[in-house]
Amino acid sequence: MLLRKTAVAFVVFTIVVFLALRSLNPDPNLIEFNGATMGTHYSIKLSPNDSSELKYFKSAVDDLLFRFERQMSTYQQHSELMQFNRYPVGKWFPATKELVDLMQESLLISEITLGAFDITVGPLVRLWGFGADHKGNKVPSETEIDDLLNQIGYQYIEVDKINKALKKQKQLEVDLSAIAKGRAVDEVAHLLDSMDVANYMVEIGGEVRTKGRRSVERAWQIGIESPLIGERAVQAVVSLQQDAMASSGDYRNFFESGGVRYSHTIDPRTGYPVRHQLAAVTVIRDSTSEADALATAFMVLGPQEGYDLALKESIAAYFIIKEDSGFTTKMTPQFKPYLTQVATP
Ligand code: ADP
Ligand code: MG
Repeated sequence: MLLRKTAVAFVVFTIVVFLALRSLNPDPNLIEFNGATMGTHYSIKLSPNDSSELKYFKSAVDDLLFRFERQMSTYQQHSELMQFNRYPVGKWFPATKELVDLMQESLLISEITLGAFDITVGPLVRLWGFGADHKGNKVPSETEIDDLLNQIGYQYIEVDKINKALKKQKQLEVDLSAIAKGRAVDEVAHLLDSMDVANYMVEIGGEVRTKGRRSVERAWQIGIESPLIGERAVQAVVSLQQDAMASSGDYRNFFESGGVRYSHTIDPRTGYPVRHQLAAVTVIRDSTSEADALATAFMVLGPQEGYDLALKESIAAYFIIKEDSGFTTKMTPQFKPYLTQVATP
């Protein structure tokens, strides 16, 4: 599904991000615009050479995002991705470069994360009630889950980059929800680069990419939300330059049944929503798509396995872990230089 962040989640995140920025002197040279995309909102701040360029920038960004959704959405029945999902097994589907690239990157991240990230998890996402059709939330039976596990497996997708084509070796569905927002942020950033914008912050549904500075005195500063339900607080603030940041959490999109919280992140190895003490994870990378997918993968792997993988791969990652008394945090050495402020307990 592309991409389910509720309006409430968006408002919460936006407020948190801007809470961190509020104390800073506003820069009169920065302009800001926002809009709707992929079931959530985008927000862009930038410093154009001339403020009359604003209208042009906004329509260029809106056009790009409109096209992007037509390619990657699982909400649009006629998107390119949904056409691939309906395409016969074993036949090469001619695809756009953008879809081929994103599928290839997704498969690479599945390999790095040993299948924790898996774009074929869609049928399970729907079974658990988190799909585009929002079929309500109930705990499925073990048999239902086992049946669907047979339809999961990124290994059954083939990508031919040279001839720009995709193939599935068995009946499965692709859901790019956990990486597409990140890739859209990257595409908008590249568009702004091509228009010689020197300073910008692009944000879609909480995934962020920056370039340059917010002002002469200040770098871009972004708040990392505390994983609290129905409350807004900043857990930490990071300072970004030419960087991308994405977060994943179990506290925004979930349901509760029998005292158990079921989150929208599914462990493709078990078929169940993740069940560990990791409440949220934030990743900083060069590319937002990678940060987005890795954050979801770490959310699947949990506080120990996820942390170990981030350490092994030298990935800047920040983990917020649930304890009886509140939260504890831990981060990889690569994350430390970004941290400018931490919430006092
Ligand atoms: P988060 O910000 O929590 O990472 P995202 O919107 O980036 O949320 O991704 C969550 C969505 O990704 C889910 O709603 C589902 O469609 C899909 N998803 C769930 N589990 C996985 C997984 N293990 N691998 C890839 N995609 C997943
Ligand atoms: Mg994600």
